[in-house]
Amino acid sequence: MAWDFETDPAFQAELDWMAQFVRDEVEPLEHVLGSPWNIHDPRFAQLVRPLQRQVKERRLWACHLGPELGGAGYGQVKLGLMNEILGRALFAPIVFGAHAPDSGNCEILAAYGTPEQKRRFLEPLLANEVVSCFAMTEPQGGADPKVFTSRAVRDGDGWMIDGQKWFASNARYAAFYIVMAVTDPAVSPYRGMSMFVVPADTPGIEIIRNVGVADDPEATHAYLDFRRVRVGADCMLGAPGEAFAIAQVRLGGGRVHHAMRVVGQAQKALDALCERALSRSTQGSLLADKQMVQEKIADAWIQLEQFRLLVMRTAWRIDKYHDYQKVRKDIAAVKASMPKVLHDIASSALQVHGSIGVSNEMPFVGMIVRAYQMGLADGPTEVHKVTLARQLLRDYAPSDALFPAYHRPTAAAAAAVRFGTEPS
Ligand SMILES: Cc1cc2nc3c(=O)[nH]c(=O)nc-3n(C[C@H](O)[C@H](O)[C@H](O)COP(=O)(O)OP(=O)(O)OC[C@H]3O[C@@H](n4cnc5c(N)ncnc54)[C@H](O)[C@@H]3O)c2cc1C
Repeated sequence: MAWDFETDPAFQAELDWMAQFVRDEVEPLEHVLGSPWNIHDPRFAQLVRPLQRQVKERRLWACHLGPELGGAGYGQVKLGLMNEILGRALFAPIVFGAHAPDSGNCEILAAYGTPEQKRRFLEPLLANEVVSCFAMTEPQGGADPKVFTSRAVRDGDGWMIDGQKWFASNARYAAFYIVMAVTDPAVSPYRGMSMFVVPADTPGIEIIRNVGVADDPEATHAYLDFRRVRVGADCMLGAPGEAFAIAQVRLGGGRVHHAMRVVGQAQKALDALCERALSRSTQGSLLADKQMVQEKIADAWIQLEQFRLLVMRTAWRIDKYHDYQKVRKDIAAVKASMPKVLHDIASSALQVHGSIGVSNEMPFVGMIVRAYQMGLADGPTEVHKVTLARQLLRDYAPSDALFPAYHRPTAAAAAAVRFGTEPS
């Protein structure tokens, strides 16, 4: 009997330290600095580096990685609890060396990189001496790999890359890009795309423009052009045709880590909702006494706890199986539900705050926009719901009790034929 929802006291002490450190030292940074990925801003050295040193001294740096890479090698359950705290502040992930997309890029460089790629790209990335970018999406679509046209063709002993990439986050600050390109157009993109680690200063790469989200003053998502970009054979990450298999490793972990941080953001919105309800009076009583406000608080808590349990169970299953394929269904469910959880709870907090709720002095509009981002980045919600439904249908076992026997062969055949193994 192994159901257990407790945190061991020694780890809880670390979490308590993190929570106070993030609240006191890290949360204020977002009011004075621009993008967390702009490590070139001189103020980053002044304000962020000393905090990173404290985190390293406390051995809480890059905890998603194993000790061989300088992390604590915590499993996903511990990471879940940590990420809930990091989710409360924009700069917390970079202060703890756990920021996307670098965290995922580190994971694939560690898993698939050659010793030379690890020395050249992984080591400085792990130390946050540089930041990186992941360039997969193309202007003609991100949700359907079959429309990807960026090509890499053999050129002497290396490769020549041509094509365009869209919404490549943080390209403007990145020292290198991990780029997906078609190397074998004769087969499905799931087997015909390869991954390349391309230094940002390679001739032929142009940032056509940087795109911002909503009214973000710092436009950080790049529209990139690759024109006759020549890279050596040593720039391929993994084997030819392996890009999608590698991307799944990266995206599987990344999606869950986003969800863990969304728990923290939604909890912050719920905290604000409770504080407002307990501190604002109208028509002779506190907002906390109004039943429609109470309903918002109750709904927010229920929604958040349900989501948190799903996230933590998924984390537990990743730790148990160490195989993202085995938890694809769970990750898809987490990914599909997170935008709505954040959207709904932030919206209730916004509403109960009245005019200041929509103002730029409160975080709720930003959270709602982030909820939409969560429903797009790493794949749209619809695609993840399709993945989830297909897995459920494929694994469906007809029940003797419910259905007549003559349905069973038909259902089993339909599941086998329709719901194959294509990744999403
Ligand atoms: C904040 C942010 C950061 C990002 N960072 C990166 C990055 O660093 N690198 C990178 O490569 N990409 C990045 N992306 C791109 C992201 O992966 C794509 O936005 C996503 O895959 C969707 O692609 P698209 O925008 O081209 O939308 P489309 O593919 O055009 O889809 C548009 C809409 O169509 C609907 N739709 C699509 N497919 C289906 C379907 N099968 N069933 C039903 N409806 C469907 C959905 O509503 C979807 O939102 C980022 C996106 C955002 C918002």
